[in-house]
Amino acid sequence: MEQNRQEVKQQPPQERIKNFFEVSLGFTEEQALAEAKRCLQCKNPACVKGCPVEIDIPAFIKLIKDKKIKESLSKIKEKNNLPAICGRVCPQEEQCEVACILSKKNIPINIGALERYASDFADEKLSDNKKKVKSAEDTQSAKVAVVGSGPAGLTAAADLVKMGYSVALFESLHLAGGVLSYGIPEFRLPKKIVFGEVEYIKSLGVDIQTNVLIGKTFTLKDLFKQGFKAIFIGVGAGLPQFLNIPGENAPGVYSANEFLTRINLMKAYKFPQAITPIHIGNKIVVVGAGNVAFDCARVAIRLGKDVTLVYRRSETEMPAREDEIENAKAEGLKFQLLTQPKEIILDKNRMPSAMRCSRMELGKPDSSGRRRPVEIPNSEFEIPVDNVIVAIGQRPNPLIYKSTPELKTNPEGTICVDENYMTTIPGVFAGGDITTGADTVISAMGAGKKAARAVDNYIKTHK
Ligand code: FAD
Ligand code: SF4
Repeated sequence: MEQNRQEVKQQPPQERIKNFFEVSLGFTEEQALAEAKRCLQCKNPACVKGCPVEIDIPAFIKLIKDKKIKESLSKIKEKNNLPAICGRVCPQEEQCEVACILSKKNIPINIGALERYASDFADEKLSDNKKKVKSAEDTQSAKVAVVGSGPAGLTAAADLVKMGYSVALFESLHLAGGVLSYGIPEFRLPKKIVFGEVEYIKSLGVDIQTNVLIGKTFTLKDLFKQGFKAIFIGVGAGLPQFLNIPGENAPGVYSANEFLTRINLMKAYKFPQAITPIHIGNKIVVVGAGNVAFDCARVAIRLGKDVTLVYRRSETEMPAREDEIENAKAEGLKFQLLTQPKEIILDKNRMPSAMRCSRMELGKPDSSGRRRPVEIPNSEFEIPVDNVIVAIGQRPNPLIYKSTPELKTNPEGTICVDENYMTTIPGVFAGGDITTGADTVISAMGAGKKAARAVDNYIKTHK
């Protein structure tokens, strides 16, 4: 067995900070074969249990080893409708790879890179997978509505259409994909890949209707009146949280969502070729230390800015993936750790000129298990700043439950569901970030998959 784990090559930092192209270059054929040969083909593979959608990982890896790339992708697609995306953005180090038996020796199989390789290099994937779909004549299909086209909605829609249902997917934005389109930047997840996967889902027969805001354009009641037998809600957690400090409402202070949407979806970085501008100075402070904060910081670096990340705890407590932290450091991101913003100081034009902050130290662990930051008295200082991007978390999108009072929610705004993903309204199901709060792509997909099975069961027992 070859011992060396194959690592994916990257664009060098000094080059990649000048462009928005993908940082990770993926495996070459030689690397993919070498890595596939390392798989021990365990009889009871733990990695499969580590994957939230239970891909038959040893089987798809063996097919790569045998140079059957198309068959390998088909094997993955038995469980995962969006493999090119998962191969790129899944936190494999906490899921399938940590469960791999070789992780005990610190050399787990690079499962994510192999999944990406199979997805990127298999030919004719659309035409092959189309054959598996039942045609309209095969089935007296009941109509199901899916709300939201993020990974939860796309997965539920694809699975339901494969079961023979007639599926309409409603998306409020002008493009499908959810966070995959408007949140995760091009250099981590090229939009060509996202739209390729969306086209695949359309090719299965899902009718994707964009610019439809459920709760305004139609209510859930309207959808039932239109003949839908069941509804799946996957509207995500896109409502930004704020610091609630003086100066935060000034122009020049962005939520992470607004900043990333302008850049990713509206291509503001191409202004004036793209019509949506973004007003941005030279000194940028990003507040927060999750994946979203690092995405904002790395986008701002690519716009040629001097970027500082402000976080109230230390590096050990940062919630972002370790790889992303290392990538950002290599790209020149500056850090102000153990620092709490207190006020955004505005100039005479009411634009940010500085951020007043306090130094913090770590106390005892709080309910999250992380050590609580405690302010050090008389430690205030100022950081000069032109723009502030607030990336301290998102809450569930409230529009649907505000327009549907019968839909019960938890105090934090997530929609309540039972063990079958059914909400408090019979026939209305929900999954993904709208029920869990901000989580991961693959857990949203896992919820979409399980909810699709529950919808099928509900329709069959409520004819
Ligand atoms: P979303 O992806 O949020 O999709 C919800 C969709 O519903 C959106 O398109 C929205 O426009 C639409 N919608 C909302 N309200 C309505 C309505 N009323 N009517 C119609 N449509 C509506 N996870 C990872 O695993 N790896 C990562 O590297 C990673 N990086 C991230 C980076 C950023 C910047 C962000 C914001 C998140 C990241 N995540 C990552 C988290 C991951 O993207 C989410 O957990 C996942 O997208 C949730 O999927 P979802 O389908 O529940 O919701
Ligand atoms: Fe691992 Fe994600 Fe692929 Fe599952 S979908 S095998 S968790 S990379």
